[in-house]
Amino acid sequence: MIENFDLHCHSTSSDGLLAPSELVRRAAARGVTTLALTDHDELSGLDEARDTAREVGIGFVDGVEISVTWNGVTIHIVGLGIDPESEILVRGLEAVRDTRTARAERIAEGLAAAGIPGSLEGAYTFAENPRLIGRTHFARFLVERGHVRDVKTVFQRYLVSGKPGYVPQKWASLGEAVGWITASGGRAIVAHPGRYKLSRAEMRRFLAEFKSAGGEGVEVVTGSHTRPQYLEFAFLARELDLLASRGSDFHGPQESAVELGSLPPLPADLTPVWHDWDRA
Ligand code: AMP
Ligand code: MN
Ligand code: MN
Ligand code: MN
Repeated sequence: MIENFDLHCHSTSSDGLLAPSELVRRAAARGVTTLALTDHDELSGLDEARDTAREVGIGFVDGVEISVTWNGVTIHIVGLGIDPESEILVRGLEAVRDTRTARAERIAEGLAAAGIPGSLEGAYTFAENPRLIGRTHFARFLVERGHVRDVKTVFQRYLVSGKPGYVPQKWASLGEAVGWITASGGRAIVAHPGRYKLSRAEMRRFLAEFKSAGGEGVEVVTGSHTRPQYLEFAFLARELDLLASRGSDFHGPQESAVELGSLPPLPADLTPVWHDWDRA
């Protein structure tokens, strides 16, 4: 059988558009043989996703994508094979989610000052899981109101640094996030490393710290990378002896450029993050 691992995607438990069960069915229909659900700072979709995966006969990996602040830069750390019952992990994620709630109020204040009232209530109407409110929910509200044509443009005009709805946020530390993941039996992976505004030297320093904290891998082939970035991070994975991961970062049919399970394979010489997994 040709294996097709997709180890990064989102459901309505965070900022995805499909319920966990719909997401898993779609993945199976697109040829994914093992899926990891990696909602932002949240584990509540895993039971439903795991049950559906069993039903449709694909492998399933319990995952999460944790928001981290490192040297003032927001970085996402994916945990794969975590234990959703782990107290350390569960408590850590609770604390991260609480800061999202406070941030949302400040985002709404910024948008109101820019002439867009009512966005807090508006964003929550798009958040099926109200304890996991994020910028994507604000973006969907602004698109619905006709302020901006699509989610991507909302980010550019309103939600990134220097724009009215941007609120600097202090997420978990790198050590905390990697520590929660490994304490729960999971493997820590840097999500879409090509997306961070880090110089080459900073990226190397970051990866060194990540490894010494217990991190094991990087996403090489992801929906958030360009083709040249596949090569760039394959090179770094080889040089720094990191495992390589593959994941679409799918959020929904209308919003994601990359479909579940549709990315190219990892370069054959890399050690995939799944190299020592038994098939579930
Ligand atoms: P948050 O964790 O609430 O700050 O939101 C981060 C999420 O916003 C990411 O996981 C993406 O889903 C989405 N996002 C971030 N930047 C962009 C962008 N430029 N265009 C579209 N979506 C974005
Ligand atoms: Mn997201
Ligand atoms: Mn991410
Ligand atoms: Mn993601």
